[in-house]
Amino acid sequence: MVKPFVPQLIYVEPKALEYPLGKELITKFEDMGIEIRQTTSHNQIRNLPGDNHFQRYRVAKSTLVVGLRKTLKFDTSKPSAEYAIPFATGCMGHCHYCYLQTTMGSKPYIRTYVNVEDIFEAAEEYMSERAPEITRFEASCTSDIVGIDHLTHTLKRAIEFFGQSEYGQLRFVTKFAHVDHLLDAKHNGRTRFRFSINDDYIIKYFEPGTSRLHERIEAAVKVAEAGYPLGFIVAPIYLHEGWKSGYHEMFEKLEAMLPEKAKKGMTFELIQHRFTKPAKRVIEKNYPMTKLELDEAKRKYKWGRYGIGKYVYKDEEQADIKATLGGYIEKLFPHAKIEYFT
Ligand code: SF4
Repeated sequence: MVKPFVPQLIYVEPKALEYPLGKELITKFEDMGIEIRQTTSHNQIRNLPGDNHFQRYRVAKSTLVVGLRKTLKFDTSKPSAEYAIPFATGCMGHCHYCYLQTTMGSKPYIRTYVNVEDIFEAAEEYMSERAPEITRFEASCTSDIVGIDHLTHTLKRAIEFFGQSEYGQLRFVTKFAHVDHLLDAKHNGRTRFRFSINDDYIIKYFEPGTSRLHERIEAAVKVAEAGYPLGFIVAPIYLHEGWKSGYHEMFEKLEAMLPEKAKKGMTFELIQHRFTKPAKRVIEKNYPMTKLELDEAKRKYKWGRYGIGKYVYKDEEQADIKATLGGYIEKLFPHAKIEYFT
C-alpha cells in the first residue's frame, strides 16, 4: 500500500507567504519537522542533496516547492477538455514512461501554486468567453493532482468552485487512492473523477510509487458512492506478452468491484503507449534498468507538434487494441461510453 505523499524537502518562494494557503502549508510542514528552504524562484533551485544524477532525481521527485502560478494563460487540452487548469506541476510517482520526465527536464520537483483565487479568476474569464457553451478544464495535465491534494486541498476547492459554476466542468485523472478528503466536496455533478488503470504487469513493472490496481478501484468505488461522474483512462496501453489476458483480468476486476449505479454514464479513454526520441533518452537515464520496450523499429512514426514526432504502435496493432479492449468494454460495461482511442 502506497502511503500518502510526504515531501522530504520544501522550498518556499517568499511571495507565497503573502497568501493564506502559503502560510498554512509552511506552518504545517514546520510542525511535521520537514526541512524548509527559501528560494527567490523555483528556477533558482540548485544543490539538491545527492551524489549523482540518480540520487538527485529521486530527491527532486519528493521535493515540494510552495510558490505562485505566474502564467495565467491556460494551455489547450485536447481531446479530453478545452483547457488545462494549472494547480500543480510535477509528481512524486515513478512511472517509467511518464511524459513529465521530458516536459520537466532537469526540474522534476513538485510545485504547488498558492494563488488559487487568481487561477479561478482566469478560469472565470475563459468560461465567460465561451458561454453558454460548457467549458471543460483538465486539472491533471502537468501533475497527478490527487496525489498531493491531501496536503493542499486545492483540488477540493476547485471541485466546489466548478460545482457552483454555470458553464464550467472539471476533470482530472489519478493513479492514487488517497481520495477521502474529496468525498464530501460539493461537486454538484460537475466534476468527472477519473482513475488511470492498467493491467497488473504494467503497474508492477512500470508504475512504482503509485497505488496498486485494487486500491485505485476501491477508491473509485468510494468516489462513485459520493455521486461523482466516474471515468477510467486506460493508459498507456502497452503490448507485452499476455496483454490480452492481462487487460481482460483488469476489466473483470473492475466490473466485479464497481457498484451497478456507477457503471451507467461511466466513461473510458484509451491511450496507447507512445514515446519520442528525447523521451527515450531521458527514460534510459532516469530508469536505466527499465524493461520498457522503446525500439523505434517496432513502431510507426507519427508526425507531431513542434516537429517532434512520436512512435506509436503499427496500424494492425492499433486495430487489435481497439477491437480487443473495445470488445471487453462493450461486453462488461454495455452502458459505458468510450470517449476516444488515441
Ligand atoms: Fe507521471 Fe502520472 Fe506516474 Fe505521476 S502518476 S509519474 S504524473 S504517469
